[in-house]
Amino acid sequence: MEENDKKKELPKRYYRKRVGLFKLIDKIKLWPSRQGILHGIKSIELMGEQVRITTHCDKTFMVNNSRNSRAARWLRNKWFGKVCPVCKIPDWKLEKYSATRFRRHYGSMLLNETQIKE
Ligand SMILES: [Zn+2]
Repeated sequence: MEENDKKKELPKRYYRKRVGLFKLIDKIKLWPSRQGILHGIKSIELMGEQVRITTHCDKTFMVNNSRNSRAARWLRNKWFGKVCPVCKIPDWKLEKYSATRFRRHYGSMLLNETQIKE
């Protein structure tokens, strides 16, 4: 069967490893909890050095906006055990995330035009 041969594959997107946590989760809208559960992010707000996150299962918390934080590393490495059943992350979002790659020297820094490039 010809259809079976053409497996649909999402285009890979590349982000830099140096992207800060806020920009990363503002883009990806996923949150890996310490318990290894991947949550969907309902809202995210930058407050100085901290980021306020609200998940779809209505948990709100503050984290430091660091690219070296646990969550940033876990997101880049795709470390999570399961997906939160309450957040109901759509499949397309998970597929998009799994097609996302993180590179040191290649990919988007997720900068706005107003920000100065290095
Ligand atoms: Zn959740």
